[in-house]
Amino acid sequence: MPETPAWYTPFDEISRVHDTLVSTFDSGRTLPLAFRRQQLLQLARLFQQNIQEIRDALSADLGRNPVEVAIGDTAPVIASAIRAADSLEAWAAPEKPTVEAWRAGWDTTVYPVPKGAVLIISPWNYPVPLTFLPFIGAVAAGCTVAIKLPEHSPAVSQLFASLIPRYLDPEAFAVINGGVEHATRVLDLKWAHILFTGSGRVGRLVAAAAAKHLTPTTLELGGKSPVFIDAGNTDLKIAAKRILWGKQLNCGQTCVAPDYVLIRREYQEDFITALKEAYLEMWPGKDGALSEDTNLGFLPTTTHFARVLDLLDRTHGRVVVGGQHLKSERRVEPTVLADVALDDGLMDEELFCPLLPIVPVENGLEDAIKIIRERPIPLALYVFTDSEDTKTQFLTRTQSGSFVLNDTFTQLVVHEIPFGGQGDSGYGAYQGKRSFDTFTHFRGFINVPPAAEPFMGGRYPPYSETERDD
Ligand code: NAD
Repeated sequence: MPETPAWYTPFDEISRVHDTLVSTFDSGRTLPLAFRRQQLLQLARLFQQNIQEIRDALSADLGRNPVEVAIGDTAPVIASAIRAADSLEAWAAPEKPTVEAWRAGWDTTVYPVPKGAVLIISPWNYPVPLTFLPFIGAVAAGCTVAIKLPEHSPAVSQLFASLIPRYLDPEAFAVINGGVEHATRVLDLKWAHILFTGSGRVGRLVAAAAAKHLTPTTLELGGKSPVFIDAGNTDLKIAAKRILWGKQLNCGQTCVAPDYVLIRREYQEDFITALKEAYLEMWPGKDGALSEDTNLGFLPTTTHFARVLDLLDRTHGRVVVGGQHLKSERRVEPTVLADVALDDGLMDEELFCPLLPIVPVENGLEDAIKIIRERPIPLALYVFTDSEDTKTQFLTRTQSGSFVLNDTFTQLVVHEIPFGGQGDSGYGAYQGKRSFDTFTHFRGFINVPPAAEPFMGGRYPPYSETERDD
């Protein structure tokens, strides 16, 4: 039996944490908007004052470059926390819907109220935004929150376990650190909402555990996100650069990473040429992406590294870009494989690594739509085209969590659109106000005043035939 790491939350503390969060919520402490605003600004302050520590932790866990940390980790959280603090009054304001004239004398209101003590479970690949972007929504909504941080990003998880109680109310917001056993124990408890980000396999366990308590859940899962290149109607050089960039981020371990590329067979070689150019622009020099000064990240464990080598062993695809790896550092170059068939091993499961297969198709758009429709609904769909008709075809004949035209990954930085999956890629969504909505119950309220009685006579028995026929 492997020993439990010392930095994990003691097992018997888990239910105590839960009880504290429930009783703090019941006390009403998190309800006032002033409290929520102050905690949101404290979170922004936590990030601003500890930016170097956060960079160091992400570098230790994942070898992440400081530029990627700024773009993908710290800036989005700081901006979202401040934006939520500024928007709080508008988001939390009771809504007065327009009603039919005969009910104008009633008070008809929708009150946005916090759900209660909620749970957020996050994965190691983006432990910072995938924990704190939903967390911001829960704080803004007025919930108390437990965050179960991932075990495979130990530096980040330990750092936030020490920072959160220093900046935020420790009786309202708590970190639980640990692995599968801890997560299982946390899921035994009754929460008012669970937001889980991770694999479909574990997502199903989370949904089953939540069902025991009828707990509403948001499942942010993964899947194979396809790319279609409408060759002839798009600039292949730009497409190649944007796809390669989206693939290399965090070594391809991004839920919305381009997973495979569909392109008409006759354009495959042109696309490979464009990819090679883009590759040399991003990683100039003889050692390519593996040279020390490129800051290419690394895979979190030897198991993750071995899985990539196994995929490379099993594929019949032809390596056309990258292909090198360094076992001692768990690094793998972004690697493109051409002529990959639909029944190749690379097409069986979400790759979640730096491998990018190109699947050539004979009939362009029609084949691509058929392939996408035959597979589980992906988290993201990427199409590169200048054609409005191609856009419409994909919009109306395919399904996906998000749909991005002419770029990859950017749906994650646009807070006005929901971020979430559909079907096998999950359900529910967050980002911006939708994060607030996720942790809010919209409580319907009416007051039917006694003064309305003269208009209510028809509803009381004895019923007349004429009234009934109306
Ligand atoms: P994972 O499902 O193995 O782990 C995620 C979390 O679940 C971790 O905190 C882990 O401790 C916990 N967990 C693991 N086993 C558990 C169990 N048996 N019971 C309860 N909890 C358990 O996922 P991962 O490998 O860390 O992440 C990779 C997957 O996550 C990929 O499929 C990826 O696409 C997906 N993902 C999705 C998003 C999104 O926003 N939709 C973002 C990032 C990653």
